[in-house]
Amino acid sequence: MPQFEKSLVWFRRDLRVFDHAALHHALKASKTVFCAFVFDTDILQPLLDAGLTADRRIEFIHDSIVELDLELRKLGGALIVRHGSAADVIPALARQLDINAVFSNRDYEPQARQRDAAVASALAAAGCGWQSFKDQVIFEQDEILTLSGQPFSVFTPYKNAWMKKLATADGPFFLQPYQIEKYAARLAPPPAQPGKIPGLAELGFRETNLRTLKITPGMSGATALLENFLPRIGNYEEARNFPALKGLSYLSIHLRFGTISIRTLARAAYQALHHGAAASGAAVWLSELIWRDFYFMILYHHPHVAQRAFKPDYDAIQWENGQHAQLLFQAWCAGCTGYPLVDAAMLQLKQSGYMHNRLRMVAASFLIKDLGIDWRWGERYFAEQLNDFDLAANNGGWQWAASSGCDAQPYFRIFNPVTQSEKFDAEGKFIRRYLPQLTGLGNKHIHAPWLAPAKDLQDAGIRLGENYPLPLVQHDDARKQTLQRYAVVKKALEE
Ligand SMILES: Cc1cc2nc3c(=O)[nH]c(=O)nc-3n(C[C@H](O)[C@H](O)[C@H](O)COP(=O)(O)OP(=O)(O)OC[C@H]3O[C@@H](n4cnc5c(N)ncnc54)[C@H](O)[C@@H]3O)c2cc1C
Repeated sequence: MPQFEKSLVWFRRDLRVFDHAALHHALKASKTVFCAFVFDTDILQPLLDAGLTADRRIEFIHDSIVELDLELRKLGGALIVRHGSAADVIPALARQLDINAVFSNRDYEPQARQRDAAVASALAAAGCGWQSFKDQVIFEQDEILTLSGQPFSVFTPYKNAWMKKLATADGPFFLQPYQIEKYAARLAPPPAQPGKIPGLAELGFRETNLRTLKITPGMSGATALLENFLPRIGNYEEARNFPALKGLSYLSIHLRFGTISIRTLARAAYQALHHGAAASGAAVWLSELIWRDFYFMILYHHPHVAQRAFKPDYDAIQWENGQHAQLLFQAWCAGCTGYPLVDAAMLQLKQSGYMHNRLRMVAASFLIKDLGIDWRWGERYFAEQLNDFDLAANNGGWQWAASSGCDAQPYFRIFNPVTQSEKFDAEGKFIRRYLPQLTGLGNKHIHAPWLAPAKDLQDAGIRLGENYPLPLVQHDDARKQTLQRYAVVKKALEE
């Protein structure tokens, strides 16, 4: 016998109708289930205030919502779409529909946790329940702990414990999809007077180049990418470091907005682990999905990382500041550092909202350890630009590069942007894609044009300082300065 007469599922970063924990539990526990999505002005207004009216993520969400509504209709339901402050809209909607309980999937970001606590208490005051579920990750919060019952702060033992838990008798349960279709008859039918999904323009936003980039939103886009990637999973280990190759899955934006479930992906990787040729690639890819769980867990247990270093000693580092630092930062953002691989990476980000993982590490390291700029500046810029921006993973990546995070790279390990370029884009294919003005330069010199003989530059039509910048800094000098800058940490580590 269902426990509730009427429930409401509040969709947030889980824009799909299959394998959805909150929807599954609501359908099982209720006679009638309504579904809602809110274009939350608490998130959208700051973008509009900053003049950021062309945001690929908003277009992606918008189009994913249209598909979600269509798919719910195929199952006999529909999506109620509202535009307003979610903290007010959800309790108001619950009152209007006479809802007994609101169901949602847990969000681990500090602001989202605050919002959910406020919504839950407003609902409770009106006699309505709040039910939240694990959905975004395979293991959350305290599910993976050290033997002494503490959260892990080093990845490899965390990963080993993660894999061990999956190998127990209960393990397969964690990868099981949540059934929806079986209970779909309980979805509330579409209202007689269907509400309209507001258009992008009504929300205050403009179309972006999402379609030109061939990014297909929604569940259909995610499924197509997964089908494209699975036959390539066996090559992942070799191909994943080379930005000119199609070596990755490009699923991050879909994971961000939940147009595919993490269980679908982890299950696919786990199964491929036992398929001879694909096994080693699948193991490395699964490991990346575990990094994702790891960073969610870190953010949950250490919410201070959103503002400060994971390791407090690193807050003592003095970063470059003032007008010169501003100019260096602007040059980095604009892809004008004079280091071709860094510049191509930054242009990839600007033009597409995506940056290859190897390049995220190189570009972040360059900002922090070559330009001496606070990792939080770069973190903020990535947060604005990345289609797949996720607080937990982005913060984890930046703190890793700054050496201030959990299991970060040691402070004295400093990527050389030229060597990285020679190693991971040896033929300059990626560089030429984003910096056509360097096309004519040979593979030997494309990684450091300022070292090329004048004749080579002339033949290639390159005028350094005019149509391609001179390097902002000399890496060897910058490296020495960084080691001095980090001396405060060294001291603290020795004490
Ligand atoms: C400075 C920096 C910032 C980053 N910011 C983000 C971010 O905002 N959002 C984001 O999703 N990832 C971020 N990453 C991690 C990683 O770069 C991206 O997840 C990856 O490039 C996405 O491409 P893909 O989907 O093709 O990845 P694949 O290589 O196909 O990996 C599959 C999935 O695994 C997860 N994953 C892979 N690598 C990592 C990682 N190092 N940490 C956590 N999860 C990972 C992602 O969900 C990814 O979609 C960042 C990394 C760095 C170094």
